[in-house]
Amino acid sequence: MVQVLKVAVPVPLRQLFDYLPKKGELPPIGGRCEITFGRRKLIGVVWEFGEAQVAEHTLKPITRSLDNAPILSKDLLELCRKAAAYYHHPIGEVIATALPASLRKGETATIQGELIWRITAKGTHAQADNLTRAPRQKEALLCLQQHPNGLSRPALTSFDIRTQALNALAKKGWAELVEQAPSVSSWQQQSPLSEAPLVANQEQNVAITAINNTTSFTPFLLDGITGSGKTEVYLQTIAERLMAKQQVLVLVPEIGLTPQTIQRFKQRFSVPIHVLHSGLTDKERLHSWQMAAEGQAAIIIGTRSAIFTPMQNLGLIVVDEAHDNSFKQQDGFRYSARDLAIWRAQILNIPVVLGTATPTLEHLYNAQQGRFTHLQLRQRTGRAQAPSIHIEDCSNLTPLTPLSEHSLSAIHRTLQQGRQALVFINRRGYAPLLLCGDCGWQSECPHCDAHMTWHRVAQQLRCHHCDTQRPIPQRCPNCGSHHLLDRGAGTEKLEELLAAQFPQYPLIRIDRDTTRRKGSLAKQLTSVHQGEPCVLVGTQMLAKGHHFNHLDLAVMLEADAGFMSADFRGPEQAAQLILQVAGRTGRENTSGRLLVQTRQPDNPLLRLLCQGDYHRFAAELMKEREMAGFPPFGHLALFRAESIQPSDAQQLLEAAASPLWAQQEVMVLGPAPAPMERRQGRYRAQLLLLAPERRTLHHYIPQLIQTLSQHPLTKRTRWHLDIDPVDLT
Ligand code: ADP
Ligand code: ZN
Ligand code: ZN
Repeated sequence: MVQVLKVAVPVPLRQLFDYLPKKGELPPIGGRCEITFGRRKLIGVVWEFGEAQVAEHTLKPITRSLDNAPILSKDLLELCRKAAAYYHHPIGEVIATALPASLRKGETATIQGELIWRITAKGTHAQADNLTRAPRQKEALLCLQQHPNGLSRPALTSFDIRTQALNALAKKGWAELVEQAPSVSSWQQQSPLSEAPLVANQEQNVAITAINNTTSFTPFLLDGITGSGKTEVYLQTIAERLMAKQQVLVLVPEIGLTPQTIQRFKQRFSVPIHVLHSGLTDKERLHSWQMAAEGQAAIIIGTRSAIFTPMQNLGLIVVDEAHDNSFKQQDGFRYSARDLAIWRAQILNIPVVLGTATPTLEHLYNAQQGRFTHLQLRQRTGRAQAPSIHIEDCSNLTPLTPLSEHSLSAIHRTLQQGRQALVFINRRGYAPLLLCGDCGWQSECPHCDAHMTWHRVAQQLRCHHCDTQRPIPQRCPNCGSHHLLDRGAGTEKLEELLAAQFPQYPLIRIDRDTTRRKGSLAKQLTSVHQGEPCVLVGTQMLAKGHHFNHLDLAVMLEADAGFMSADFRGPEQAAQLILQVAGRTGRENTSGRLLVQTRQPDNPLLRLLCQGDYHRFAAELMKEREMAGFPPFGHLALFRAESIQPSDAQQLLEAAASPLWAQQEVMVLGPAPAPMERRQGRYRAQLLLLAPERRTLHHYIPQLIQTLSQHPLTKRTRWHLDIDPVDLT
């Protein structure tokens, strides 16, 4: 049998591919190679060496080896292997997700030293005067003789020295082009702290001690209300690892990585801190990645995909706002970074801290079962009281008035007291729909089962699901009537309404439309932080990561929609958001207040939540989940399919599900049309599998995947699998 390279290739096939090594070029396991795949040239990663599965004459050699050393460390290879198996996802695509774009494209993985021109020993004794017939070479020689440490390209340009002249000197043996070793930071040799830590309170102390006394794999659930000082716990446990010369990886939600967050870390630590998020250029990403891999970055703060950062000596992983849904990738390789964080800690045998004010039921259950160490912070630091939450009965409110009288007067009082108020609604635009008062026509999206939102500033109708944009019709497209009305409210309408109501106060709207330009969010928030009384109107973006010191009141609209959602996670997620918004209010010495506008003031779950006790609320939900067998008492896998023809998606999933009818171990829900059946012009169906044991569920999945892959309908029907889905819509 021939020895071959088993290569993980970034294609949607669940297998490795055999290639022969090229003479003299044997990439290491975990190193990249260039290969021909069909007619394409692709970059793969050597997974292992092994015996060929196919006849030798069909094997092709790799065309190029790119790395002398593995670019994926052993722990990351193991993490990718485990993830590919667990999510039933092609290994090549898993690895492609783990690598920064530049490395996927074949750029060099090691930190490049700067190229400099330097005088040689022979050149130092050369007589410039002998070069009278070559004045440019003479200039270059004199210049290099004056700078014995060498000069970089930009420096040489500033002296007007040309490459041609330098090459001529090199030919004579008088100059050479060398790579200067990159500067190496030695943060390990210095004290990591640049300011003294705060004096921890008793609850913080218990948490800090527990984490600091642990050096082996232990998941900690740091369950602390907003303002209880979780960040201080992170900082003090991070300091401990840094002093042991270990690196730390901090994962934050997508919109949690604010300048404020980075500032807090930079203020505390003198060590190099690098960030990884989607706003970086490929080059910047690669740089942070390399600094981490070579041990030069002490702390990496990053969003979801940062879980794949290679770290030379990782000692601790922190997941902040661990309940946040942005840790789950929603397309392609649908992994959960918070689960991967736990696996990676396990592989490396190090502690992992999951911090949140509103733990997911899965995390709470793990804590109850003793799989996680539960650390609780129940008190806000300092004199601040926990914010109070009030139900604002809006069952009699007409659809034309988004804010109740009482909400408006509460805002008014807050402003009069010289404080700030926030109005929260999770919808951009002016109104979620336009309709004709005569014939009932509605602004439906031509491609989705959804309404198009009226964006008044942009003078457009926009679909928030497929981005279709249309001009505002002057008359009803159906009957020609001028009698067009809008229904419901978005941030733009609230902005208008509040500006009219409180003309003497500044109004700041913050949503994706107002913050599209880089830096504009920071700019808007600067004026808020100055503390003048003002009204903030905004979406999700305001709920996370930002601390406001002058905000006394928040009013939340339609916060209860989640309590009526078809998705069983609706109430949990609505509660997390409600508490998060409440937590924005009442910093320092004042206690904050949240008004939850609702049309169902008697909803028992909502009432329980408004008492401010997330744990009692969660306990109630836990009972419902247990009865239904839903997570954390069962495990889910969701197959989704979508097709241009209405029935294809449904039919494909029916074919996949049919072998399951004969068994009783796995509950089969569907296939059924998705809650929004048509999106972006495609009809969508889903098949949900539920089983009390994960192993049972995973036992059946390969069979379903095979049926789907081989079915003739897959030619015109896309499908994918979502393990542990967080969004069932
Ligand atoms: P959380 O992350 O739990 O919402 P933070 O870590 O942001 O809370 O802490 C809230 C505020 O309390 C911050 O301004 C922080 O500086 C302060 N704080 C935290 N711990 C202490 C402490 N032990 N003594 C005094 N102030 C503290
Ligand atoms: Zn009409
Ligand atoms: Zn649409």
